[in-house]
Amino acid sequence: MKINLHRPVFTTMADGSEACLHVHEVIGDGDGPTVGISAVIHGNEPTGAQIILELSRLLADLPLRGRLLILPVANPWAFAVNHRFTPIDELNLNRLFPGEPGGWFSDLLAQAIAREFLEKIDVHIDLHSGTDRPTVDYVYLLNDEGLSRSFGSKVLYRPKEGLTGTTYSGTTKSVTVDARGIPAAVIELGGGIVDQGPYVERGVAGVLNMLRYLGVVADDPAPPPSQIVVHSIALIRPGQGGFLETSAPPLGEEIAGGATLGRVFSPYTFDQLEEITNPVQNGIMILSHLSRNLVQPGDYGYMVGDLAGAERS
Ligand SMILES: [Zn+2]
Repeated sequence: MKINLHRPVFTTMADGSEACLHVHEVIGDGDGPTVGISAVIHGNEPTGAQIILELSRLLADLPLRGRLLILPVANPWAFAVNHRFTPIDELNLNRLFPGEPGGWFSDLLAQAIAREFLEKIDVHIDLHSGTDRPTVDYVYLLNDEGLSRSFGSKVLYRPKEGLTGTTYSGTTKSVTVDARGIPAAVIELGGGIVDQGPYVERGVAGVLNMLRYLGVVADDPAPPPSQIVVHSIALIRPGQGGFLETSAPPLGEEIAGGATLGRVFSPYTFDQLEEITNPVQNGIMILSHLSRNLVQPGDYGYMVGDLAGAERS
């Protein structure tokens, strides 16, 4: 096995530094697909980069077929300041793929990622997480049922259509993942003011199992646990800012319609400002706040999957 670190430069910043990507190329010993693994397309979702760091420590001793291209920090400028959007232009990188020539800095970054990463891979595994407030736990089921299931999460989400400008869907001029018809899975795991260790451990085990499913790692993949595929997810945002205290069940557990998800309290007056209830008749917890967290009105509060019409296996 051989590991190369490529640092393609795509522009010069105003402070004189060169803007580059960090792409690790791991070349296995036999024939197989090129699997792309990326994280931190949103700068405040660092759990994926932690998963990749731990994974990289295992790779040296792991016989591989095919090749891995690993982009551990897709948006370093947003990552450095723990911000969802690129601080230079305040744009969401994951709505701009494959990038616009002559566009904003985030467009140039999207173009570089498309050219140096997305166009060179045969399979895409994209790691997202909650931020330093909410914690999340589900997997997008896009175009390869077995690949998404092999990560091993309990809850999966089959969206009707992809969001425009993501690595998966791109735009109408897209050369990104879906238009090329390559298998793709988007993982949402971890985040929050809680120990990320268990999520990192699950992430490493999950990605390794996907690599077994793809034949890149030799052993047979572990069969997925019993899983629930939801077709719609309610995103519930607090209308008031303050401290959010959760009373919802843990992630992956069911919640009845009308049950209390959490309450917002004022740290100033100590009054309860809001009670947030579950709008889904029969729901399953997908995103939550696991500690007493500061929220602004309109932040990500909770995500509840709709169990009506869900597929169980
Ligand atoms: Zn994200």
